[in-house]
Amino acid sequence: MRIERIETLAYQAPIDQPFGFSQWWFTKRSALLVRVVTDDGTEGWGEVFAHVEPTVYGAVIGKALAPVYMGANPLDAGVLWDRAYNRSRPYGQKGMIINALSGIDIALWDLNGKILGQPVSQLLGGRRRERIESYATGLYRTETDDLPGALAAEARGYAEQGFTAMKLKIGYGFDIDMENLRAVRAAIGPSIRLALDANHGYDVPDAVRLGRAAAEYDILWYEEPVVAEDKAGYAEVRARQPIPVAGGEEEFTRYGFRDLFEARGVDLAQPDLGGMGGLSEARIVATMASAFGVRCQPHVWGTPVALAASLHFLSWLPDVPGSATPTQPMLEYDRSLHPIRDSVAVAPEKSLPWVDVPDGPGLGVEMRLDAAEQYLVDRTVITAADVRAAASTRE
Ligand SMILES: [Mg+2]
Repeated sequence: MRIERIETLAYQAPIDQPFGFSQWWFTKRSALLVRVVTDDGTEGWGEVFAHVEPTVYGAVIGKALAPVYMGANPLDAGVLWDRAYNRSRPYGQKGMIINALSGIDIALWDLNGKILGQPVSQLLGGRRRERIESYATGLYRTETDDLPGALAAEARGYAEQGFTAMKLKIGYGFDIDMENLRAVRAAIGPSIRLALDANHGYDVPDAVRLGRAAAEYDILWYEEPVVAEDKAGYAEVRARQPIPVAGGEEEFTRYGFRDLFEARGVDLAQPDLGGMGGLSEARIVATMASAFGVRCQPHVWGTPVALAASLHFLSWLPDVPGSATPTQPMLEYDRSLHPIRDSVAVAPEKSLPWVDVPDGPGLGVEMRLDAAEQYLVDRTVITAADVRAAASTRE
């Protein structure tokens, strides 16, 4: 069986209400799906965590990565990952090349699960969990004169839907953050767990000050307090304030996470499977995390394809520490506006806060491309003939 075709499908959808975080505002949502098709017509789906205009990934995948994958046996996913990374090392150790590689790698795991008739979690090493407790990601900035009041109402809504944990965006400055935090904690009471996410909106002194003050509100974790490049800064924030520190959604491959773990920068690693290298690399990072005594749970901000990949990964994740009752990893369940997520594929089964791990072959996602057709802005099809014609190097 050989890989015969790779497609990238780029989507963009306007949203009714813009929402913001510590860096910018969103006025549209984007998604980038990857379809890998073999010569017998079997297809696998992957997703890239597309930070920028998703249309650029057609060129990245077509020109930089497809030559490695085209014509290859999809069951060689790990071999192909190594080859693709080594080929792009001079220009691609972090950033868009690794994002693109992630999408292809996830598609290969889906494909291989379908070829072998097994769910991806089984191929990763086994299903430790059949369902995952989720937390609501939302509580962004919105265009309102009363942000604390709007956040409190949104938080109460998540609790009424059945969520037992949620995450509040911070990083707007100490006074604004504390006012929002007080409002949300008062709205949900003491029993709902609450995490904070600064999206690297602070430097070390401000992050420490915020963490020390926020701790009395019983905070589950403190996500991305400072920029990902400042691993010593992460360690300093972790040492100087009491809330467990989380990060990793802007980190890449085993090499980036190695540096973060060696710096003792985080209590909780959050690899994004569609950004940091795919399921092949996330399995390595999770294994490394367990060796450093660091918890791991994926960052997720995509369609049901990214959600399903993350659910299979969460099902397999090793317990840290190995014990009878270790703290269990949670699923990040993005509740912000995302018309593509809500239309392009069937959402996983859930009974909140629990979300079932799919048990069909591969990722177990049912695609509904027709329902999202209106949001499709680019479809790039790459064939073996394209790759041969464009080739400037060979093995
Ligand atoms: Mg985050």
